[in-house]
Amino acid sequence: MQQYQSDVLIVGAGPAGSMTAKTVAELGADVIFIEEHETPGTPVFCGEGLSISGIMNAGLDPVEPYVCQQITTARVVAPNGKTVDLHATDWTGYTLDRSEFDKALSENAVKAGAKLMTKICATGVIKEGDQVVGVRAIKDGKEVEFRAKVVIGADGHWSIIRRSAGLANYFDDWVTCAQYKLSGLNLDDSSINEFWIGAKYAPGGYAWVFPKNKKVVNIGVGVRERHTKPAIEYLKDFIANDPRFRNAKIEMTSGGICPVSGTLDKIVMDGLILTGDSAGQLIPMTGAGIHCSIESGKIAGRVAVEAIREGDVSKKRLSAYRAEFDTYWGRRITEAGKVLHMLDKFSDDDLDVLAEVISHEDIMHMANGLNVASAMAGLVKKSPMKLMHLIRAFMR
Ligand SMILES: Cc1cc2nc3c(=O)[nH]c(=O)nc-3n(C[C@H](O)[C@H](O)[C@H](O)COP(=O)(O)OP(=O)(O)OC[C@H]3O[C@@H](n4cnc5c(N)ncnc54)[C@H](O)[C@@H]3O)c2cc1C
Repeated sequence: MQQYQSDVLIVGAGPAGSMTAKTVAELGADVIFIEEHETPGTPVFCGEGLSISGIMNAGLDPVEPYVCQQITTARVVAPNGKTVDLHATDWTGYTLDRSEFDKALSENAVKAGAKLMTKICATGVIKEGDQVVGVRAIKDGKEVEFRAKVVIGADGHWSIIRRSAGLANYFDDWVTCAQYKLSGLNLDDSSINEFWIGAKYAPGGYAWVFPKNKKVVNIGVGVRERHTKPAIEYLKDFIANDPRFRNAKIEMTSGGICPVSGTLDKIVMDGLILTGDSAGQLIPMTGAGIHCSIESGKIAGRVAVEAIREGDVSKKRLSAYRAEFDTYWGRRITEAGKVLHMLDKFSDDDLDVLAEVISHEDIMHMANGLNVASAMAGLVKKSPMKLMHLIRAFMR
């Protein structure tokens, strides 16, 4: 059987895997990253929304071909149709070309010295006792082995690395998404991202419209367990009810899963780190995981190299990764998760009232898991009695 050896072996060339690979290579360690598809970034399962800071922190500029549309307004649409527009003052967003974006991240890792091997599907970790020492995979129909001092699972929400290592089988809570790429539109303004909330559109989640230009949008629906029909049926209803989209051409149908129960308890073991979706690192309120994965990958790569240089790749040493991730990103994920659970208790009527009283800043903070406690405290003061009780119950 063919065997490969490296200091670090990464499974998955999405944002988490490519950022880990780039970081490890820049620090001078020997790294291989493997990807089951022929080209990183293809196929795309994503709304393709990302902030300017997410793009820049990935080491790219917000220019073609990585981005297609600048977004300067986030429009939240309440169940009764009332809209709240959040205009960019200190932020701006973009609709990515995710296939180009992910490809560029993997190319940057290769330029830094990482070895990318595509069309290789990992089938499980290799363990010696409790220690992960490598990965089994299929290459050209044959089994191969990758041996490494540290293995990184960056293989998305259904991570075979996580499951075969004996860590969590799956997540406690997730959003099921359906998405169309629609063309042939004539939008008035393509710099507005729309977020439609309420059980009638998307129980437990939201419907989104992310323009790629005036003629093309990603339009999708994400639902949680309270849904009564498949996500695609909510999406079809959503489109049928909006004259802007009714007669558009469906260029592509996609979808996928976003884990929203927060970072898993166990994301590190002897010789192994999980990063990105495989670890549950998405902002639960928005399902946004690209930026989390980028930052998580950078930390994972650095901690892995430091641990190898110290000759200690134990769970205890690698846990420095978790501690560092949690100080900012992990905290945001936890806070945004609490907001999601609070909103689960709101009826569509409650959401209509909330849209009347909430400030623009508070929406941004609550959706992104930033300054949530103070946003909540401010909201309680402005809210009518029923909402006040719901919010207070959450704050206890
Ligand atoms: C419908 C939908 C819309 C979304 N919209 C947004 C959005 O607008 N903005 C945002 O920030 N986030 C969005 N997300 C979430 C975002 O896509 C993920 O959080 C992000 O891609 C996570 O990056 P990752 O590198 O951890 O995993 P992935 O991007 O999933 O990458 C994992 C990689 O591992 C590879 N792989 C998997 N298994 C194996 C194996 N066995 N062997 C080898 N390779 C393997 C895969 O092919 C893939 O390339 C959306 C998700 C969905 C489902």
